[in-house]
Amino acid sequence: MDNQNMNGNNQDKNDMKNGKGRGRSIIVMLVISIVLTLLFWKAYDRITNGVQKEIPYSGFIEMLENGEIADIELYSAKIKFTSSLEENSLNKATYTAVAIKDDKLADRLKTAHQKYGTTYKGIDESGSAIIGTVLSYVVMILAFYLFLSLIMKRSGGIMGVGKANAKVYMEKKTGVTFADVAGEEEAKESLTEMVDFLHNPKKYLEIGAKLPKGALLVGPPGTGKTLLAKAVAGEANVPFFSMSGSSFIEMYVGVGASRVRDLFKQASQMAPCIIFIDEIDAIGRSRDTGRGSDSEREQTLNQLLAEMDGFDTSKGIVILAATNRPEVLDKALLRPGRFDRRVIVEKPDLKGRIDTLKVHSKDVKMDESVDFKELALATSGAVGADLANIINEGALAAVRAGRALVSQQDLIGAVEVVFAGKEKKDRLLSPQEKRIVAYHEVGHALLVALQKNTEPVQRITIVPRTMGALGYVWQVPEEEKYLESKAELMADLVTLLGGRAAEELKFDSVTTGAANDIEQATKKARAMITMYGMSDKFGLVQLESIEGQYLDRNLALQCSDETATKIDKEIRDMLKECYITAKKILSEHMKSLDAIAEYLVERESITGKEFMQILSESVSSGNV
Ligand code: ADP
Ligand code: ZN
Repeated sequence: MDNQNMNGNNQDKNDMKNGKGRGRSIIVMLVISIVLTLLFWKAYDRITNGVQKEIPYSGFIEMLENGEIADIELYSAKIKFTSSLEENSLNKATYTAVAIKDDKLADRLKTAHQKYGTTYKGIDESGSAIIGTVLSYVVMILAFYLFLSLIMKRSGGIMGVGKANAKVYMEKKTGVTFADVAGEEEAKESLTEMVDFLHNPKKYLEIGAKLPKGALLVGPPGTGKTLLAKAVAGEANVPFFSMSGSSFIEMYVGVGASRVRDLFKQASQMAPCIIFIDEIDAIGRSRDTGRGSDSEREQTLNQLLAEMDGFDTSKGIVILAATNRPEVLDKALLRPGRFDRRVIVEKPDLKGRIDTLKVHSKDVKMDESVDFKELALATSGAVGADLANIINEGALAAVRAGRALVSQQDLIGAVEVVFAGKEKKDRLLSPQEKRIVAYHEVGHALLVALQKNTEPVQRITIVPRTMGALGYVWQVPEEEKYLESKAELMADLVTLLGGRAAEELKFDSVTTGAANDIEQATKKARAMITMYGMSDKFGLVQLESIEGQYLDRNLALQCSDETATKIDKEIRDMLKECYITAKKILSEHMKSLDAIAEYLVERESITGKEFMQILSESVSSGNV
């Protein structure tokens, strides 16, 4: 992901290595330009002068005396002329004849001129005229050359195939250690062996142990796979070569394979070292998916397999590859002797998130209000990259506010920026829209508070955000949960539908604002039925399976069409029931809803504390 810090020295070395290839491609491009220029002149000549016919001198004399010639151009060694018979024809030809010494030519021309009106002129072939022609050729060749080199740059080169443009990044020292990678203890543990091997290959070889050549780092984007690979290199103090799987593949067949060869050649000169291939699924996708002409990818993959089999572990090269779609990888890649180790890099849990926040705030000046646990609780589902981003956004916010230390408030704001987008101050909702959004959000919040099973409200806001939300309720759990009960899930569904319920109760109309809630509620209800066995109608049957565990999880139905229809109905019934519950609870607390919503319209953002206060006031005054 972040490859920007490549090593300067190495860049030079790469360029030098490519010097030879570049010289060759310059020559090839020059030749092409010359050929193009010649062809161009020929075509140009053809268009302006028509067909060229060469005839003997005698033929010329004959035509001249018969009065069949219109114009004559006399060169020192040739005569060029056009026929008067073809003057109006489309196929007008230019005739040439090789001149011979003819004393009578002058008389003949004169006669023809007098008799038939034939015109004739001599052409100056001395220096300046020739220079003119030559110059125009040179200019043309240069123009073609420039044009070609522009095209080449765009397309990544035809001649320097696989040499000049393979983006191999090499860092002599990554400067990253395991201490920079927070959480991921299991992953680090599996990788320490590799580090030890790179330190001291002899120890392993003497005993006759074969070490894994490669390990596959598997996990969702942003969880620190690249970082871990760099840390392995850093811990072992060896160079780090990295390349992204997608950058092997170009539009020309054979490029990828030659890049793989190049990469391994460079790496073996620097061994011991680490080769890191990011997004290996770009080349390692299963070969038998039947997607037609993927021959380029296939060749690249074959080359990679060949290189992996070919090198000898004793040299101390370890290949790490990252992917978030392990299920699509070709089985051949996972065979023993190739990427036979799999290191799972998971989304961090609560402790992992706290540690990640700590790692990233090492150099950030913070005041004593900062509470990492609270932040970690508010960021469930976030990956390392998000957390790094949050700390940075928080620091930026502090600078913007002109403070020297980052506060918890800055960081909470940053969490909201990362998850919901920036506040859109200039989007002005009409007063009526603002009220609708306020009732909608308070509807959600009230249901959170009134159903004891759900998490407490942290904040409610109706300031529109750049990622599309017009408002939201910020919920933070008190502890991280790994299991959810059916009752909790049902309460979540009621909460999700509470926004729409409040709108309907108050305004007796519904808006598009609930689209996202409905989407989430449907997903949740579906999962309860098809995966968690929480519907009595179906019982404990798996009706859907997950594909692509680490990316957006796609679900694949595992049942008959008939059952699928029933599932749809069951989802509908379930959501209907929850919606009725939501409306029932809210209608019993209309006064509170009004009070809080009106307060929110005024303030635009209120804290969970303010919310609870108004709620308990209106409840205790009997004003429910
Ligand atoms: P991946 O390769 O898995 O997509 P990266 O390794 O590129 O993710 O992570 C991107 C950035 O996120 C890293 O440079 C680092 O700043 C941060 N990051 C991710 N995971 C962690 C972690 N476990 N500990 C510390 N920082 C992390
Ligand atoms: Zn909503």
